[in-house]
Amino acid sequence: MENMENGAAHGAARPKASSCDSCGDSSCSAARRDLNESDQDFQERRALQSRLCRIGHKIMVMSGKGGVGKSTVAVNLAMGLMLAGKKVGLLDVDIHGPSVPTMLGLEGASIEQGPDGLLPVELGHLKVMSMGFLLRNPDDAVIWRGPVKGGVIKQFLKDVAWGDLDYLIIDAPPGTGDEPLSICQLINPIDGAVVVTTPQRVAAMDVRKSITFCAQVGMEVLGVVENMSGFVCPKCGEVTHILRSGGGKRMADDMGVPFLGSIPIDPTVAEAGDLGQAFVLHHASSPTAEIMRSVVAPLLNLPTRGQGA
Ligand code: ADP
Repeated sequence: MENMENGAAHGAARPKASSCDSCGDSSCSAARRDLNESDQDFQERRALQSRLCRIGHKIMVMSGKGGVGKSTVAVNLAMGLMLAGKKVGLLDVDIHGPSVPTMLGLEGASIEQGPDGLLPVELGHLKVMSMGFLLRNPDDAVIWRGPVKGGVIKQFLKDVAWGDLDYLIIDAPPGTGDEPLSICQLINPIDGAVVVTTPQRVAAMDVRKSITFCAQVGMEVLGVVENMSGFVCPKCGEVTHILRSGGGKRMADDMGVPFLGSIPIDPTVAEAGDLGQAFVLHHASSPTAEIMRSVVAPLLNLPTRGQGA
């Protein structure tokens, strides 16, 4: 842990001030110092903004509760965007339970310091950063309070050499706690959230809270994904609806947000996750991968947002 805190806080090179100075966007919030803002806070805000300016779209993947497949969706969204020819970053801020390294077969990878900041782990055109890379032992428990977690998320955004990206996908921990709030405050503007749920009523009720959270913090809901919607028989491919299905779609309609699609329970998805293989890449021809690509498709057409905030 000390490694992370010291390494990221002291070791990371600051992005060149010129990258912010040269932009010339006078409407950008980083163009001027706020009243009551210390010089250090202003410089940090500029450093953060100069990183974020180089990222076209920022999308947070959220869920109301754990175990609904949020990380699976985040990994496959990121990989799906990469397979569509985009430069993508995947930031796993599930500080207490980072599963992205396992799902991408990157366990044991470590972070190096580069000339312009911490170097994310690269997998093709996908750049990955996770708390999991910073734990000395995968069994280590992270016991941090909210403000510390907010500081770490800021470092993940500001001190990592993301470079030029088309998309940054952020895998947030379940619920509407400190981490999603920090992300919304730090990334301004953020394109919005993809909210993952399962079909049963209780999970769908839980995810309503995520949608209400988005409304309260002024973040757009880009869409709801209903995961584990029906079971795909590995022998015949027939889909059986074990859990009451359609909850995600009903809830999305009810709350006036887009519905991105229903991904079935497919044993190959779980197996791929355990083997560290991104499903859309390794099982590209399967019907479930086709569904995942259809969830990705609307995200390829997001409008460009200005940086001024
Ligand atoms: P969360 O991030 O919401 O906690 P995960 O993405 O870690 O959930 O998924 C929990 C477990 O469910 C993992 O073992 C994952 O492989 C499995 N899983 C997720 N989605 C599916 C699916 N559509 N079909 C089969 N298994 C799935």
